[in-house]
Order: sequence, then structure tokens, then C-alpha cells
Amino acid sequence: MRQLDVMHHAPASTLEFPGAPASAPRLRLGKLCIALQAETPAELFARAQSALHDARFLEFRLDALAKPAAALPELKRFLAEHRDVIAIATCRRKAHGGNFVGSLTSELDILTKAAEAGCQIVDLEVESAEEATHPQLARFRVALRAAGSALLVSFHDFSRTRALDQAAARIQAFEPDYVKVVSTARSLADNLAVLRLIEDRSLGADVVGIAMGEEGLVSRVLGPRAGAAFTFASTSDAATAPGQVSARTLLDLYRVEQLDQATRIFGVAGNPIAHSLSPLMHNAAFRRENVNAVLLPLKVRILDDLLALARELPLGGVAVTMPLKQEVLPHLANMDPLTARIGACNTLRTGADGKLYGFNTDVAGVTRPLEKRMRLKGARILVLGAGGAARAAVFGLVDREAEVFVSNRTHENAMALARKAHARSVKQEQLAKLQFDAIVNTTPCGMTGVKPTLPIKENELNARLVFDMVYNPIETPLLKLAHARGLAIIAGFEMFVQQGARQFEIWTGKPAPEAEMQRVVQLALRRHG
Ligand code: NAP
Repeated sequence: MRQLDVMHHAPASTLEFPGAPASAPRLRLGKLCIALQAETPAELFARAQSALHDARFLEFRLDALAKPAAALPELKRFLAEHRDVIAIATCRRKAHGGNFVGSLTSELDILTKAAEAGCQIVDLEVESAEEATHPQLARFRVALRAAGSALLVSFHDFSRTRALDQAAARIQAFEPDYVKVVSTARSLADNLAVLRLIEDRSLGADVVGIAMGEEGLVSRVLGPRAGAAFTFASTSDAATAPGQVSARTLLDLYRVEQLDQATRIFGVAGNPIAHSLSPLMHNAAFRRENVNAVLLPLKVRILDDLLALARELPLGGVAVTMPLKQEVLPHLANMDPLTARIGACNTLRTGADGKLYGFNTDVAGVTRPLEKRMRLKGARILVLGAGGAARAAVFGLVDREAEVFVSNRTHENAMALARKAHARSVKQEQLAKLQFDAIVNTTPCGMTGVKPTLPIKENELNARLVFDMVYNPIETPLLKLAHARGLAIIAGFEMFVQQGARQFEIWTGKPAPEAEMQRVVQLALRRHG
């Protein structure tokens, strides 16, 4: 499969309309159009007013109103008051995925009046364009030109991404000013189909391409970079399409207005992935260090989907979460020896040869915070739990020559891990009698909603330092207890930040802005945790 060629398109900001009369409008469009939808005109224009803080390019979904025509005088007033606003009017019929229950004639009438009210672009579904008679469509287009408005013809597939070229060809048969193709992503590869369409068609036309749904985020963010005329966002309180992202998120988190052909693309892959803090942390780090890069959440149902995206996009690197950490190993060209011993990789980097190289930065996430506070060589460290996180901790600490003990609810799992990593296992009944330099909790105990809230009994807290990998909440019951006892503590977010900081370094070759990464992660956890 060919790699997406994202190098040679300069996204147009000033758009001309080929084939249009001399009076055709020249619009200076932003990269982001905020789609507005509401049940009442009052609500719609209140949303429009607040959207102006983020963009001056708005789509009015008139079809969401019970009586779209009744909102036109208000629309005219709004646009007269905000002369710098570019507006798209849409009145999509129910049969074509919208809410408008009127006829084709009514739709054309409302769109014509919206153009006369000042909307510089009107959106007509390709199905409506095809249904209209030749004279009907000709009259509509003359009226649009008289009003100084451009015609956007759109295609929507609400169930999948398929035959996009055919859809674009159907639209282009009408020679509109804008071609809009919207599909639904069921996989990451569907983004590739959309981006390819944009690249192929945007040299000869002004194209907008988007794949809806959580998996389609890549197309929303990277569309303009591939040559799309613009992309769509929602207001922060109301999305108008599945998977639509708010304007603030696209502007602040993904910096969609700054992305260009030189921007390197990274991802955090897993399922579920929507609540990952990695995009927040890494994009803040890129911004702080002036690295021209963006990191996107990638919902991966099957690994092959991620591998195809990594190859074709191409991705500079990927942070890998469960359950992909083991699955990805056979696809790596090489990995560092510790990653191979652990048998889990949380960081991919694409080499200059296009191959994937694997690293495990979870190890540094455990060892670095401890090393800042104690000498690991010879330290007695108890690891609670024997799952994936424990593996990185036990192998990493043994590698630093600590004396590592593993204790777990299911003792056989502790024994198996200890045997593989050259550590020792301890039965839970023995813990009260033992003394450690540090205790590291790798079980989910203490995480919001998980019982028991403490991974060990109070009388087993025999250490001078307690490190809890759980980071939601920030102050876990274990950390509170340890703090009350006067013990040193390490909170789970520190591990998250440290493993992310090493990823940043692997990807960019620059020292990570750890303080900034920690600041944004802590802030997010305090806000939403
Ligand atoms: P995992 O592979 O499922 O392993 C969980 C381990 O905890 C197993 O040993 C399991 O024991 C034990 N366990 C589970 N529920 C328990 C309970 N109710 N009581 C006692 N023991 C219990 O999970 P993981 O990927 O290792 O993740 C574990 C925790 O670490 C999660 O809370 C995760 O969020 C956190 N973590 C944090 C970071 C960070 O950056 N701070 C990174 C990775 C993971 P059995 O063997 O008996 O099933």
C-alpha cells in the first residue's frame, strides 16, 4: 500500500471558485468550522454567540429547528452584526440523515433564503442535488450566485467508510464550490481512506473529508494538513455528529491551526482510549518544547489496524496501552534487552527505515521516582501484585540490583513472576513480620470503585516509603495511611509522568519538560478525578 503523501499540499486559506462567475465570492476561511445545532432559535444564536470566542466560521444546522424558516430573520440580524463571520447554512432532510421533514422544494427555498440572509456557503446533500430537476437546480444556483453564496454539496454515510471516490465523483458531477464527503469510521484504516481522498481530490477542488465516530478523530485533526479546505468541530456543550470534537479541544489540545506538512504524528493506542491522559501530557510537552508534533488517541480494536496506520500515515511513534503491550512484540524490528525480558512494550518508535522499534518506559516510570529518593542497589522492595504493571516494576528493580519481593492475592502468580525475574515471592501471611525500604502497590486496590481500598493490612505497612501506582484518585487510601504514619510517599501520577517523559525523549531526542507534563496531568486529575 502506498504511504500517504502529506508533503506537498499547502492548505489553501484563500479560496477561489473555479468556473464561477466573476462575482463569485472569495472567502478567507479558517481551518475550523464550528457546527451549531439547537432545538430553538434562541438557543442556536446563543450558541453561535459563544462559539465566536473560538472561531468566526460557523455552520448553522437549520434542520435541527422545528421551523427552520422562522429562524432566518434572526440569522440575517446575527450575520449583519458579525460581518467577519463566515456562515454555512444546512437544512439536511431526514431521508439523508438530517432532521428536516419538508420537501426538496422547501429545502432549496430555505437554503436560498439563508444565502440571501448572508450565509456565504450553503450545504446541499448530493441526494437532493440528484433529485432536483435541471431547471430547479439551475434556478437555485443562480439565486445563490445572486446572493454571493457558494455551493457545497455533501455526501454522508452514517454506517461505514466505503467507496469514497464514487461519492466524491457524484458530488463533483455538479461542479460545486466545495466537495464534502463524510463517512463513519469503524477502524483506524478508515481515516486513511478519507485522508487519501482529500489528498487526491484537493488539488482540483476544495474538499472537506471527515470520518465520524471515535475512530475517526485522526481525519478530523489531520484533514486540513492533508489539504482539506477545513474541518468541523462542535461547541463544547453540544456535538452535532458522532465523534465530533469541541473547537477548544481541536485548537488547544491538537493545535489544528498550526499543523502543517512538517508536523510529526504520534499516537496513544488502546481500547478504551478516550480517557487517556497521554494526549494532554504529550501535546503540552510538544507545545512547551516547540516540537512540531501532535499526539492523537487511537482506538485500536485489532493490532493490524494500528500497524496499517503506523505504516501509511506514517506515525513517528506510539504509546501502547493494554492489551497491545504484548501483542505488538512480534512486529518489532528490534527492542532493548530489558523490554525483551519483560515481554511487554509500551513505546514504539518508527525508525528512518520505516520499521518499528520497541521500548518499555514503564520501567523508568517505576525506577526513576524511587531513584530520586533512595539508592536502589541492595534496597529491599516489596511489590504488591503480579500483573502487567508489576512485571515492569519487578524486572526493572531487579535490573537495578534491588532485592525484590513479590506478594499477590493469587500466590501462584507472584511465584511465577518472581521466578522469571529472579526475585522472591512472599505469602501475604508473612508480610506483617517483614521490613522493607519501599512498598510498591501495583494492584488496582484504592482506585475509584475498586475494593478493597487497601492492598495490604495496616500492620503490614512496614517500610519507610510507599509508592502507589494507582493515580485516580491522586491521594489513595494507601498513600493517606502512609502519610499519616510519617512515611515518604510517591503518587501514581509521578509514574505516569516519568514513563511519558521517557517516551518524549525517545521520540524527540530532547529532554522532556517534566514539570509541565506533571502540571497538566495533576490539573486534569484534580479536575476530573
Ligand atoms: P493487571 O495486569 O490486571 O494486574 C492486576 C494485579 O492486581 C494482579 O496481580 C491481581 O491479582 C491484582 N489484583 C487485582 N484486583 C485485586 C484486588 N481487588 N485485590 C487484590 N489484588 C488485586 O493490571 P495492571 O495493568 O498491572 O495494572 C494494575 C494497576 O496499576 C491499575 O490500577 C493501573 O491503573 C495501575 N497502573 C498505573 C500506571 C501509572 O502510570 N501510574 C501504569 C500502569 C498501571 P491476581 O493475580 O490475583 O489477579
